[in-house]
Order: sequence, then C-alpha cells, then structure tokens
Amino acid sequence: MPAAWTQTVKGQHLRGRRTRNTKPEVALRSAVHGLGLRFRIHRSVAPRCTPDFVLPQYRLAVFVDGCFWHGCPAHSPVQFRGPNAEQWKRKLATNRARDQRNNQAAEAAGWQVVRVWECEIRRDTAAAADRVLAAARNRRAGS
Ligand SMILES: [Zn+2]
Repeated sequence: MPAAWTQTVKGQHLRGRRTRNTKPEVALRSAVHGLGLRFRIHRSVAPRCTPDFVLPQYRLAVFVDGCFWHGCPAHSPVQFRGPNAEQWKRKLATNRARDQRNNQAAEAAGWQVVRVWECEIRRDTAAAADRVLAAARNRRAGS
C-alpha cells in the first residue's frame, strides 16, 4: 500500500503551480507569432489531449514541458530524497506515461507533435521558436 504524502514546504509551493499559460509557454507563443505562424491555444486534438498550442494549418501540436514535471534530462532529479521520495517518483512516472499517451493520441488523429522543454525556451526563446517553424516547414514539404 502506497505511503501517504507528507506535508512539506516544497510541496505547498508546488501545489500552487500553474499548468497553463506559464511564463515559458507565453514566451514561446509570442516568439512563434513573431515568425508569422498562426496558432490556437489549448484546443484539444483528441479526447483528453490538449496541447499548449496548435498550428492548425500544419496540423502541428506543440507541448511546452516543465523540466521538473516532465522529466527533463538536465533538470529533473534522477534520485528523489526526503519523506515523499517514492510519491514524487511515481508522480513523475505517471506524467511521462501521460505524455506518451498524448503523443500517440495526437499522432493517431493526424497531428505531428513537437515538445519543447521549458529550459530550452529560457536559454534561447528564438531558437525554440525556430524549431517549431522548422517542424512546420517540414510538415508542409512532407504533405
Ligand atoms: Zn530542463
């Protein structure tokens, strides 16, 4: 039987996290907009699958992944410590499984998925936006 969550200061802070319209998400959208691409935000492309934004013209679905929650190789802990270590590990595994399901659901519905790490956007927003643009161009060349 799984242990219950132990109250921690860190946990309190994380409970208040925003999952939509986060700073990196908004920054990427405005950079993508600046490249002349048109998108729709928070539109579902399959049942229970809602990317952060989509480019309907290219059937491109973009997800902005928070480093911690989605297991970025550079910024997500490999080892968890503290009283909730097991719970964190399980929670992140669940998130990753959901990401996989979302990718499959979107692709099955004819959308190509682009995932951008939060840290990629923080480091170089223009480069992250270029990656979205390149995917869109590929998409057009391929269809
Ligand atoms: Zn990261």
